[in-house]
Amino acid sequence: MYAGVDIGSRAAKAVLLEDDKIISSVIRDTGAESVKTSRKLLEELLEGTGIGSEDIDYTVATGYGRVLVPYANENVSEISAHARGINWYFPTVRTILDMGGQDCKAINCDGKGNVTNFVMNDKCAGGTGRFLEMIAEVLNIPLNEIGTVSLGSTSEIPFNTICAVFAKTEAIRHLRNGVARADILAGLHEAIASRSFNLLKRVQLESDFAITGGISKNSGLVAKIAGKVQLEPLLCDDPQLCGALGAAIFARDKSVLPSARAKMQYGYDDGTGSYFISLDEGLCNGCGKCVEVCPAGLFKLVQRNGYMVAEVKEEARKRLPVLCPGIETCRNTNGGVTCQMVCSESAIEHSW
Ligand code: SF4
Ligand code: SF4
Repeated sequence: MYAGVDIGSRAAKAVLLEDDKIISSVIRDTGAESVKTSRKLLEELLEGTGIGSEDIDYTVATGYGRVLVPYANENVSEISAHARGINWYFPTVRTILDMGGQDCKAINCDGKGNVTNFVMNDKCAGGTGRFLEMIAEVLNIPLNEIGTVSLGSTSEIPFNTICAVFAKTEAIRHLRNGVARADILAGLHEAIASRSFNLLKRVQLESDFAITGGISKNSGLVAKIAGKVQLEPLLCDDPQLCGALGAAIFARDKSVLPSARAKMQYGYDDGTGSYFISLDEGLCNGCGKCVEVCPAGLFKLVQRNGYMVAEVKEEARKRLPVLCPGIETCRNTNGGVTCQMVCSESAIEHSW
C-alpha cells in the first residue's frame, strides 16, 4: 500500500494505491493547520477500507504544505507529482497546465512522467482557484456551477484585467448594470484562458495536452483554454487528485526499489511555528555519532531492513523546540559541535 498526500493552498487531497489500483481517495479543505489536516486526511482515506496506517509501506507528500505531513517518508514538488499523476492516466501527455488554488504552472514532461521544463505564475491571485471562489461569491453562484453557467453566455463582456482586485470591482459594476452573470463569467474565463495560453507559450506546447488541478473541473474555462490552445485537453477522472496520485506513484516506485530506504520527518507545527528534523536513511551509515553528540539525547539507532540507522526518539518528536535549541545555539553551547557537523553523510536536516 502506498499513500500520496497533497497539501495544497486551498484543498488537501490524498490517494491510496495498492500496486497500480486506486483503493481510496479523499479531498477536504486545507484549513489553517496543515498538520492536523494531514492527519484527518489519512483517517478519512482509510475509513471503511479495512486498512490501517501500519499497512501503508511508504508515503510521499506534495503541495505547498508537503513538509507538514508528519507521517510522510519524504516529499516531492507538486510539479513532479502532477506530471507523474497525469502520466498514469495518459502516458502520451507532453504538456500540462496545472491550475491550482493560488498558482498556475505550465509543465513539459516525457513519456515516463518526468518533468523536462516548467514555468509558474505564483505572483498574482488572478485566474487561480481563490480568484474564481471570490468571483463565485460576488455573483452568488456555487463554485461548481460557474463553468456551466458561463457556457450559457450570449454576449460575453470583455475583461481587460484579471487582477483579483480590479476584476472583482469590474464584475460588481457589470452586475449592477444588469449584465447577465453568464456573460460576466464568460468574459472572465476568456481573460483567464488568455493568460494561461501566455504561460503555456513559455514552454513547448506539444500534444498531448492535459489540464490538472481543481479549476479544470470548470467546463466553461476548459472550453475557452481549448479554443486558445487549439488542442483538446485531456482530463482525468478527478483532475484535482492528480498531484496526490503522482505522490502515491512516487511512493510506490520508491518503495519497490530494493535498496530504497526512507527519508523520515520527525516533528510537528503549531501556532508558534514548524519544527522538523529529517533523517535520510538512504544516506545514514549508522555510525551513531549524532547519538553521541546530541546534548538533548534526541537520537537513537535502530535496525531497519537489515541496516542500522538513526531516528529521533518517539518521545522527543512532540517536544523538539523544547529539547533542541536549534543548530546555531546548539553549536555555541555544545563545544562547537552539532549533530549536523558530525554527520559525514549529510543525512540530517533541521527545518525550524
Ligand atoms: S542541533 Fe544539537 S540539540 Fe538539536 S538535535 Fe542536533 S545535536 Fe541535538
Ligand atoms: S551521524 Fe549521520 S550517518 Fe551517523 S548515525 Fe547519525 S544520521 Fe546516521
